[in-house]
Amino acid sequence: STTLRCQAVTVLGATGSIGTSTLDVITRHPDRYRVHALTAHRSREALLALCRIHRPAQAVMSRETDAAWLRERLREAGLATEVRAGAEALVEVSEAAEVDTVMAAIVGAAGLLPTLAAVRAGKRVLLANKEALVMSGALFMEAVARCGATLLPIDSEHNAIYQCLPIEHRGGLARHGVTQLLLTASGGPFRGWSARELAAVTPAQACDHPNWSMGRKISVDSATLMNKGLELIEACWLFDARPSQVQVVVHPQSVIHSMAAYSDGSVIAQLGNPDMRTPIAYGLAWPERIEAGVKTLDLFSVARLDFEPPDETAFPCLPLARAAMVAGGTAPAVLNAANEVAVAAFLDGRLGFNGIGDLVARVLEARPAEPAGELGTILEADAAARETAQAWLAGC
Ligand code: NAD
Ligand code: MG
Repeated sequence: STTLRCQAVTVLGATGSIGTSTLDVITRHPDRYRVHALTAHRSREALLALCRIHRPAQAVMSRETDAAWLRERLREAGLATEVRAGAEALVEVSEAAEVDTVMAAIVGAAGLLPTLAAVRAGKRVLLANKEALVMSGALFMEAVARCGATLLPIDSEHNAIYQCLPIEHRGGLARHGVTQLLLTASGGPFRGWSARELAAVTPAQACDHPNWSMGRKISVDSATLMNKGLELIEACWLFDARPSQVQVVVHPQSVIHSMAAYSDGSVIAQLGNPDMRTPIAYGLAWPERIEAGVKTLDLFSVARLDFEPPDETAFPCLPLARAAMVAGGTAPAVLNAANEVAVAAFLDGRLGFNGIGDLVARVLEARPAEPAGELGTILEADAAARETAQAWLAGC
């Protein structure tokens, strides 16, 4: 049986928050998983440390200078890991015949091509890299169906919804009696703040999330609620939902990770401690369950659960994302690209916090949606949106 065979796993973005949590779960189950490839952008010291522990067949870095450095250190350590550089190598370790599972945990648009390659090669794809799906939704889901990939959402909300739906939930929510998806949001570190108060927010404040420890980009997205906007788009594609079927519910404790509402009045929720190892273990072992190193939720220490609607005036990124999904075509790719540029500028101190939403709105206006049937069109829309965003930044 396939469950007895050791699965070979490629971890894209191994040095990141999701990547290291994935390796933590894998280490707990050496009989079930072995690492085929590990990849990182520029953190070569961190990738070296991971290679020493996991002894992958392959390692990939973005630049050849970093790859050469890593190659030399691994040779000194007597490890046989083959080290390569660049985007093509990322694609190759994602589609390689000996790979069963790909954890897509690169942040941003840089993850699109390797993630799509894993899908097209029919792998089990553990999707953390939500930007890849937001950019290419229709094309991505069509490739999943056509190539027989097993797509398992790792984003905690989507993983929760996946667990709340019938195992076979394709063909539209209505067919399974699901009326609404309730997407929970912590509200981020600035829940309850007005636009005026938000104007002076610093990168350090924005990256200090109350419940989750994450990479800097997604931390800023959580603070602006763009993360919830990207997740709304992600939910529409993953579960074949209309934007109006996804309701965002602010739930500051982050204990309910999301819910599905059914036509008979039932609402099914998935609960747990906020620890990404739970959805990661679910994705690795599905349809089985394995130990993830996460304590069982103690409801007495949680004591209470609160819910409130999101403030879409102070946090315009959420309605902007919903509008981009409604507009369709290349609009979500444009939204994502503009947001990536805006977040990088905010982290560099070149743009204020409220400037993120302003910039995204301007770029969406300047780059109206076009049909997104082909990957080339999506990549062009992404590049054009980045150019527009950079030009606006240079002028302000
Ligand atoms: P991170 O910044 O901690 O890690 C990103 C990883 O991607 C690193 O290994 C980095 O080296 C690599 N990387 C960055 N830029 C790259 C590039 N241009 N080319 C190749 N590799 C590159 O990010 P994270 O928090 O682990 O998030 C990863 C993805 O998972 C994001 O898409 C995020 O939205 C999603 N996600 C994260 C969490 C979380 O709790 N951290 C939860 C849900 C979804
Ligand atoms: Mg999430």
